[in-house]
Amino acid sequence: MSAFKVTMLASGSKGNSALISTGKQNFLIDMGISCRMLTSRLGEVGLCVEDLDAIFLTHEHTDHVKGLGTFTKKYAVPIYSSELTWRAILIKDPKIERRNCRIIGGALRCGEVEVNSFEIPHDAVDPHGYVLKCNGSKCAYITDTGFVTEAVRQAAEDADTLILEANHDVEMLKNGIYPPHLKQRILSTRGHLSNESAGYLLANLPRIPENIILAHLSQENNLPRLALDTVRNILSEASLFNDARIFVAAQDKIVKDY
Ligand SMILES: [Zn+2]
Ligand SMILES: [Zn+2]
Repeated sequence: MSAFKVTMLASGSKGNSALISTGKQNFLIDMGISCRMLTSRLGEVGLCVEDLDAIFLTHEHTDHVKGLGTFTKKYAVPIYSSELTWRAILIKDPKIERRNCRIIGGALRCGEVEVNSFEIPHDAVDPHGYVLKCNGSKCAYITDTGFVTEAVRQAAEDADTLILEANHDVEMLKNGIYPPHLKQRILSTRGHLSNESAGYLLANLPRIPENIILAHLSQENNLPRLALDTVRNILSEASLFNDARIFVAAQDKIVKDY
C-alpha cells in the first residue's frame, strides 16, 4: 500500500492545490486557492495550516499561486520552487513575503520524504512537476503538461500514486466556445494534457499505479465521467484494466484517494 495519502483540495483552471500526506508529514503542491479556502478544505481532513511541512510550486500561473500573498503574511511555512519561477511569481505579486521563499534545484530531503522536481512542457518560464518518495512508495504530480516527455514518463513510472492531468476531451475543446487562439494554446505542446494522452501514458507504463487521480479537468472542455471513461477504455483496450483505483479531482470540493 502506498505510503502517501492524497487529498485534492481543489483542481482545475480556477485554482489548484493538492495535499500529500505520509501520516507524519504533510505537503502541499501548489497554492492556487485563497487562504480562507485552504484553511477550510484542510479542516475537512482534520488539518490546519500549521500541520504543513512545506509547499512546492509547479509554475507561476495564477491558478497555482493565487493564495500566496495572504498566506505568506500569516504563515512561515517554507515554499519551494525553481529560481526562475520564483522570480516570475514575485514580479506578478511583490507583496509575497521573501522569508517563505526557498529554491529547489533538483532533489531535496524533508524528514522521511525525498522530493524531486522535473521539467514539464508548458507555457510558463520554468514549469516543473514533482516526485515524492517515502519508504519505497512513490507519488508523482503531473499537471499543466503539453505532452508526455521522457522526463514525464519517468516520473510516472513505478509510481504507486499518480496525480495526472486529464485536462480536456479534444473533440469537446475543438467544438467548444473557446476562441481559436486559446484552443491552439491548450492543444499545443506547451499546453495541457488531454484525456486520451493521459490514458495512453498510463497504458504504456510497465505497471499501472495503485491510485490514479485525474486532475486539472477543464470545466468547459471536459466532464468527469468522460475523463474517467476515456482513461478506463484505453486501459481495457490495452488489456490493462486491473484493480487500479481511479479518482477524478474537482474544483469545488475535496477528493481523497483513501
Ligand atoms: Zn499553467
Ligand atoms: Zn494550471
